[in-house]
Amino acid sequence: MERVDIELIKGFEQLIKNSSKSIVLVPHRNPDGDAMGSVFGLWRVLKNAGLKVQIVSPTKYPEFYHWMDGHEEVINFSHHPKQSARALDESDLLICMDFNQLSRLGDMQPLVESYTGKKVLIDHHPYPGNFTDLVISDITYSSTAELIFSVLQSTEFASYIDRNAATSFFTGIMTDTGSFDFNVSNPNTFEVVAQLTRMGIDQPDIHSRVYDNYSVDRMRLMGFCLSNRMTVYPEYHAACMYITLEDQKAFNFKTGDNEGFVNMPLSIKGIVFSVLFTEKEKYIKASFRSKGEFAVNEVSEKYFNGGGHRNAAGGELYASLAETLAQFEKLLPEFEDRIKQSVNKKQRRK
Ligand code: 5GP
Ligand code: MN
Repeated sequence: MERVDIELIKGFEQLIKNSSKSIVLVPHRNPDGDAMGSVFGLWRVLKNAGLKVQIVSPTKYPEFYHWMDGHEEVINFSHHPKQSARALDESDLLICMDFNQLSRLGDMQPLVESYTGKKVLIDHHPYPGNFTDLVISDITYSSTAELIFSVLQSTEFASYIDRNAATSFFTGIMTDTGSFDFNVSNPNTFEVVAQLTRMGIDQPDIHSRVYDNYSVDRMRLMGFCLSNRMTVYPEYHAACMYITLEDQKAFNFKTGDNEGFVNMPLSIKGIVFSVLFTEKEKYIKASFRSKGEFAVNEVSEKYFNGGGHRNAAGGELYASLAETLAQFEKLLPEFEDRIKQSVNKKQRRK
């Protein structure tokens, strides 16, 4: 079962044991369920082991994760930069989780860059950056949560994984796989879920807390976007959706309200490539999803200053919404062959 080099795992374990001050856990900015699930799970385990641990998040995260064990402990850098800096100053080990480049920290990047203690990266994205003393990175894991759980299992800290930690790890796996819809080709994912289940997690309750917790406004925004903000390009097996700042105002938009929108067009017959553009004050946030072999991280890297996984990627563009939409239409022909190959392969497999 072991895929991560045991020497790396032992190195990680040693760094934790060597820490005599506190340990800081850091997810990427606008953290998702996997970033928070990984951080909360590891936080609980290290705390159970009697260690001093702090969580510093570059930004806030969606309310539908606020029920998670450890939520009250999170220091939000964007609201409390001084307190965050103090937490880093008082620590001697910083663990970055679920991202591969320092730029994913947003405004918190300089603080982590100038950190003088030891740094570790735990991640499952391609092309891990070289900004930490130790890198545990493996794209064959569905999620960072699955990876950190598997790593902990091979350390002395395994015995500190309790039901709370298991719940957090499960949340990370569940959200990064779209409730076991994608990134689930590796049997280890289900072996880990089996172990978490033995630890007593309540899967329907976790699912419900995350996915049945939206506001009426969010539901209506989704309906509005599906009706008025979605363009389908059948010839490219693609669909594009966008949300303007005005739309966000009209529907009382809160962080995370657009979660899941980008996946919806993929349930249209024949669509394997979906994009969502969300207008922000200063830039356009792009989200990409695909089915099959078509790699959307290549689209994001080349045109949207981003990256991610083959079937789920994101980025941002400092341009207007109109310019962004035009850019998207312009790039479709370039990827036409690759999209079609993905469609043909899928059909052959059936
Ligand atoms: P989402 O569309 O949910 O924001 O992001 C999907 C995936 O794309 C994330 O899990 C992350 O791996 C990646 N991603 C999202 N935004 C960015 C970005 O701005 N830069 C990079 N490098 N990756 C991103
Ligand atoms: Mn992840």
